[in-house]
Amino acid sequence: MQGYWTKEQKKAFDERRDMEVLATVISEAHRNNKMAVAHTMSIEASERAIKAGIDGLMHIFVDRPHTREIIDAIVNSGAFVCPTIVAGASTIGDSDAAEFAKDERVRSKLSEEWFNALHKHIATYPQGKTAYLLKAVKALHDAGRLDADRSANRMLTNP
Ligand SMILES: [Zn+2]
Repeated sequence: MQGYWTKEQKKAFDERRDMEVLATVISEAHRNNKMAVAHTMSIEASERAIKAGIDGLMHIFVDRPHTREIIDAIVNSGAFVCPTIVAGASTIGDSDAAEFAKDERVRSKLSEEWFNALHKHIATYPQGKTAYLLKAVKALHDAGRLDADRSANRMLTNP
């Protein structure tokens, strides 16, 4: 089988298979009265999840600047977005969570373990940019898609 497919054919097959897996997972979740959410951190993965009918995105992309198309696709899909800004920045290695941890209102509620965790980074995607994440969050907010109360309410009413 080695060399039977061209690289493009293999990529097309993988993408079609990924879409079938996504669509199956989403429809099974819905059949069981559950919501389906995707932990996507790239525009491409977010596009696939939205196209497959995901209910929510649990991160926002950090791989490149957002496009009008992906913002419109998210808005038009009705999916909610939980952007996890600190987690995204931590994945890049650019989180300022340590500053957040200095605030006594935060510090007083953290165990030593969690306090220490806010001084570390996940740092698995250093090529990402926090600016992309923040600009996408702003674009989604401006489009009326980023509403923490609505997202939380939707999660609470669709366990
Ligand atoms: Zn995640």
